[in-house]
Amino acid sequence: DLYNKIIELKGNIRVFCRCRPLNAEEIAGGASVAVDFESAKDGELIVKGHVSSKKVFKFDSVFSPEEDQEKVFVKTSPLATSVLDGYNVCIFAYGQTGTGKTFTMEGTEEARGVNYRTLEQLFRIIRERQGLFQYEITVSVLEVYNEQIHDLLLMGSQPGVAAKRLEVRQVAEGVHHVPGLVEAHVSNMDEVWEVLQTGSKARAVGSTNANEHSSRSHCIHCVMVRGENLITGECTRSKLWLIDLAGSERVAKTDAQGERLKEAQNINKSLSALGDVISALATKSPHVPFRNSKLTHLLQDSLGGDSKTLMFVQISPNENDVGETLCSLNFASRVR
Ligand code: ADP
Ligand code: MG
Repeated sequence: DLYNKIIELKGNIRVFCRCRPLNAEEIAGGASVAVDFESAKDGELIVKGHVSSKKVFKFDSVFSPEEDQEKVFVKTSPLATSVLDGYNVCIFAYGQTGTGKTFTMEGTEEARGVNYRTLEQLFRIIRERQGLFQYEITVSVLEVYNEQIHDLLLMGSQPGVAAKRLEVRQVAEGVHHVPGLVEAHVSNMDEVWEVLQTGSKARAVGSTNANEHSSRSHCIHCVMVRGENLITGECTRSKLWLIDLAGSERVAKTDAQGERLKEAQNINKSLSALGDVISALATKSPHVPFRNSKLTHLLQDSLGGDSKTLMFVQISPNENDVGETLCSLNFASRVR
């Protein structure tokens, strides 16, 4: 019974940990590895501290640096079925800049990530269900930067358009909407790829350093699914959110001034708001503080209830990063 209670408490929140490999530069520089998968049990990893003893963390799944995009997708793909069955789903990538958040979500052209593969799976299931169900899929791409919501598809399709600020509005009990947000209809993977590319390019426009900008903003794909059971006439509406979060690293106070300090504070605010919301949901707290950040406000309908949440906590194997690694693992343990 205690076991059932724990399962119930955990509800629909899963946490996967993924560690990137050491990069060429680190290998050339003789970097030491602080994360141990070999001697850890299934679903666990061990972090060796600088001076202190080692620490063990447990997650729903742990992916070592050797495990590829396909391995990760196998564990993620059941969520595609959930979305088509009418559940709202959020998939997040959390972690320090450079740990593989974008690699996991977006991936590269040769090693496509969760975003592309999950949409591909949606279309695969839609084909299988042909004749029984009919579906309509739209995709929106937005970013939250400095607590402002921007429409990346709008910016990407009309170059030169200044970033327009969008707001979240409650249109009915439990229904939140972003008026004016572009929703692109997609009916095959070629169209999906085009939309993903447009969004990705728009993210870089207007920033002097595209990489820096993307590490300081949350990049969000919202896939809206309208389904109809052709036999019973029953209709479903659900959303799949795919979210590449801003880097979680703490900025040294001495480095941050002016705009940079404001950015850092806003990132901090929204990531801790996200942690607060997920842990309030996991512990069934009567008050869930959705309104504390733009991100949680935006996701309000899709977090909690019977929605499903998956968080990837991304980490570096490098001993030099062990401080940030422990912070990320502690954050993830809290939401789990
Ligand atoms: P983030 O988005 O967290 O800042 P990136 O996704 O940009 O990090 O990853 C940083 C670099 O590491 C990229 O060059 C990326 O391709 C590489 N990388 C990250 N994770 C992996 C992985 N699991 N396997 C191979 N390369 C990876
Ligand atoms: Mg990134």
